[in-house]
Amino acid sequence: MCFLIAGIQPKTVDLDSHSRRCSSCGLYQARLKRIDHYISLFFVRLVRVKKGDPFIQCQSCGSVFSESGETWYQATGRPENRCSRCGAPLESAFRFCPGCGKQIQ
Ligand SMILES: [Zn+2]
Ligand SMILES: [Zn+2]
Repeated sequence: MCFLIAGIQPKTVDLDSHSRRCSSCGLYQARLKRIDHYISLFFVRLVRVKKGDPFIQCQSCGSVFSESGETWYQATGRPENRCSRCGAPLESAFRFCPGCGKQIQ
C-alpha cells in the first residue's frame, strides 16, 4: 500500500512588484504573473516541471493580457459602473462609492 501523496501542483508567481495600468478598466491594478507547475510530494513542491507563459492579470476587473499588451480575456461587466478611483462596482442609485467614498457624478 502506498502512502505517498504525489501530484502536480500549479503555483501562481508574481513577477512584478509594481502594478501596471489595465487597458480594460483603466486602473493601476494589473500585475505580471506566471503559472508554474511543480511535482509535489506531501504537498511540498519539489521540482518545477512546467514554466508557464507570463501574462498580465488585472486584480480589479479580471481581464487578462499578454506581456505585449494583447487582450486575451476581456472581463465582462460595464466599466462605467465602476468607481474610477478604486474600481468598486457601483449601482446607479449610489451617490457615493461604497469602496472609497468618492462622490459619483
Ligand atoms: Zn482592469
Ligand atoms: Zn471608489
